[in-house]
Amino acid sequence: MSARLAPNGAPVRADAVEIVTLGCRLNAAESDAMAAAARAANLTGAVIVNTCAVTAEAVRQARQTIRRARRDRPEAQIIVTGCAAQIDPDAFAAMPEVDRVLGNAEKLLAPTFADESERVRVSDIMAVREMAPHLARADDAGSSRTRAYVQVQNGCDHRCTFCVIPFGRGNARSAPAGAVIDQVRRLVEQGCPEIVLTGVDLTSWGADLPGAPQLGALVARILRHVPDLPRLRLSSLDVIEMDERLFRLCTEEERVAPHLHLSLQHGADLILKRMKRRHSRAEAIALCARLKRARPEIALGADLIAGFPTETDAHAQDQLTLVDEAQLSFLHVFPFSPRPHAPAAKMPQLPPARIKARAAALRAKGDEALARHLDAWVGKTATALVERPGFARLPDFTGVRADDLAGPFARLAFTGHDGADLIAEAA
Ligand code: SF4
Repeated sequence: MSARLAPNGAPVRADAVEIVTLGCRLNAAESDAMAAAARAANLTGAVIVNTCAVTAEAVRQARQTIRRARRDRPEAQIIVTGCAAQIDPDAFAAMPEVDRVLGNAEKLLAPTFADESERVRVSDIMAVREMAPHLARADDAGSSRTRAYVQVQNGCDHRCTFCVIPFGRGNARSAPAGAVIDQVRRLVEQGCPEIVLTGVDLTSWGADLPGAPQLGALVARILRHVPDLPRLRLSSLDVIEMDERLFRLCTEEERVAPHLHLSLQHGADLILKRMKRRHSRAEAIALCARLKRARPEIALGADLIAGFPTETDAHAQDQLTLVDEAQLSFLHVFPFSPRPHAPAAKMPQLPPARIKARAAALRAKGDEALARHLDAWVGKTATALVERPGFARLPDFTGVRADDLAGPFARLAFTGHDGADLIAEAA
């Protein structure tokens, strides 16, 4: 019996298959599919580590997780997959703790787990043209789940200079609308109240499909064909690729969550150019203002990078003022870290201490913005989706802490906040 304990506190059985998911919602969706593939292959006694490569810190955490898995389950097969394994399979194959290394395409196929003849099975991800078939297997979502991620797109055709993701996930490819709608319908029939559409470059959905439909068309079809879907949420969006129909649905359709997370990355035009981003500061601020005018209750979040190479004090100041001018409430701050294959790694780097200080300043700015957002909710009431005991989430993504929450939806009165989440009681 291993030293590891399951979420319910019981020792993990020696024949158990555990999946440890690092990184993004896409990895979370794929870990569900991997569980089904491993079951179909009758895989037993294994720990699968689904890695991320977005920052150097993410890769360090992957290695740490692998070592811990080996320590806790000395008898288990340790299988490493995900973007870090896809980008640098040899580095993981060289770890004595590792039994197998699988690519991002291979990890979703049951035969990969049935046939253990190859220790390293990682194909050229740039050669992958199809979305993996895992969308069809919707039976992973137990009715207990309050939110399910539906992957509608994978890969990316852009080459932002700081980003390694295309090298882990390949070029952009879309799931057919019919398969997405079937998956959403099955999840809703299983009682799932919230669906999150996810992808690497979500707004490029459809570009590779007949007639090149846009994401707005997909959202419209989902809402039409799944009338019982209570709430649809979108994961990160590229501001410059938001089509007009999507804009209207996000601002006029009650069932579309009033929350958008935008891939803004920076607030200075020169840095945006050096990042090879496709929008300007003014375009980002204008879109946020349009969204807020059309739907005042919409909450906006953004990914922002601190300390990009050649960033001056003035650029860093542009980054801070962007938070207010774009009316952002939720920030994901990434301290710049040079990535293999990404051109920014060859640009003149800032000293690590300055990157750290700029990230801290940006996070502090984010805390201020979030506190302002939470203050505006205090004294009001609203209905939140209960995610787990003591925690719920509003449609605009605001977190709520409350005792004795009865789900799936709870009507709550907000009495205060702790800087991160609202504090509430039953209304
Ligand atoms: S759009 Fe840019 S940041 Fe996003 S995945 Fe593609 S290359 Fe990376």
